[in-house]
Amino acid sequence: MSDTMRAVQVPEAGADFEMVERERPNPGPGEVRVAVDACGICHSDAFVKEGTYPGVSYPRVPGHEIAGRVDAVGERVTGWAAGDRVGAGWHGGHCFECEPCRRGDFQGCEHGDITGLTFDGGYAEYATVPAEALAAVPDDLDAVDAAPLLCAGITTFNALRNTGAGPGDLVAVQGVGGLGHLGVQYAHRMGFETVALSRSPDKRELALELGADHFVDASSEDPAERLQALGGARVILGTAPSAAAVESVVGGLGRDGEFVAVGVPGEEVSVDVQGLVGKRASVGAWSSGHARDSQDTMEFSVLRDVTPEIETYDLADASEAYERMLENEARFRVVLEP
Ligand SMILES: [Zn+2]
Ligand SMILES: [Zn+2]
Repeated sequence: MSDTMRAVQVPEAGADFEMVERERPNPGPGEVRVAVDACGICHSDAFVKEGTYPGVSYPRVPGHEIAGRVDAVGERVTGWAAGDRVGAGWHGGHCFECEPCRRGDFQGCEHGDITGLTFDGGYAEYATVPAEALAAVPDDLDAVDAAPLLCAGITTFNALRNTGAGPGDLVAVQGVGGLGHLGVQYAHRMGFETVALSRSPDKRELALELGADHFVDASSEDPAERLQALGGARVILGTAPSAAAVESVVGGLGRDGEFVAVGVPGEEVSVDVQGLVGKRASVGAWSSGHARDSQDTMEFSVLRDVTPEIETYDLADASEAYERMLENEARFRVVLEP
């Protein structure tokens, strides 16, 4: 086996991707080296590409939707062995010692790592990952399908399952794109009466196929009014990264309704608190989850047949693949195969 590997790195903030031959990294204590079979491209990779996240050092290999196989284990790693199929997502490890970690809130770790951001990620043939950031990939799940579940999947699955919605409750998913096409599948399979909200009427058929019970064309109908006509939403999962989109649906919340943002608008959102008080409703947000949450996401996806729609690219075509994601042209998630 050669001691080098192909990797796509961002040489400095704002620069173009470059393909390089690099030293194959060796796993340090507590780390595992993963041979990458697939790595999804996520909108959050723009943080690395454009340097808009504090504390990233360059050059940096992006990629936080890694699916592959354990290739080598470092000292003190006992739970994983060479050949195990594993995945790693945004949550790239935690310290076990800070106050949130002591309370079991690993996502809140004050010294947490982020895959492909605070250390090199999966736009490469190999990546080293802290052992506590690994999820087991189920046998029945292909690496290319697992990859998007490690960010887009876990984000929507974990957000929905941590709401107060129960079977039969009205749950709306706003946006039928990279996150939303998974959110609709999860909402349906979790037993919710599922509404897909989209400004693209051509998504109707797909949304219904994915499991939506209702489709609301937000370009020609008032989504809040439609949700109220259906009884008011217990949950609205916001995947559209636009303040106007959020503002257009909050009025559709019912009693104890929760708006949960997983798509992040680049601007401030204005909310009519008066309208929330009487309904005891809330507007909040959710981010991702830890490695076991990722594993739950993949296991549920296999159990209930949730599949991401993907386009695959060779590692050498990372720039083209990234542009496709950025221009919102992909249906729906873009995956690199190193
Ligand atoms: Zn992501
Ligand atoms: Zn910690």
